[in-house]
Amino acid sequence: MAAEREKIYDCEVKRRRVKVGGGYEPFWKVKAVAEALADNDTEFRCKDCFGEVKLLGRTGKAGTVPYVEHKVAADSEFCANGLLFKKATDGRESKVSAKPVE
Ligand SMILES: [Zn+2]
Repeated sequence: MAAEREKIYDCEVKRRRVKVGGGYEPFWKVKAVAEALADNDTEFRCKDCFGEVKLLGRTGKAGTVPYVEHKVAADSEFCANGLLFKKATDGRESKVSAKPVE
């Protein structure tokens, strides 16, 4: 049996916006992974725990939808949207990553 993979189709991407008083400031925006790739976004993080993610499924084949998964298993174990968190049966509470992407 193949191991179950974590597949998250929404992520946060880092964007810049004009700041009041001049200049730019970064902010994170929730987006579908496929849309972020189409927009050439380069900085990603998990929208729920803010942890690092890996980009996967970018084969470009028809019917393939790109997605992300947590880089660090500990994030998946405590992220509200993590596969390992959802499978945990000990009643744990979700929390943000110990090493959030800023
Ligand atoms: Zn997460």
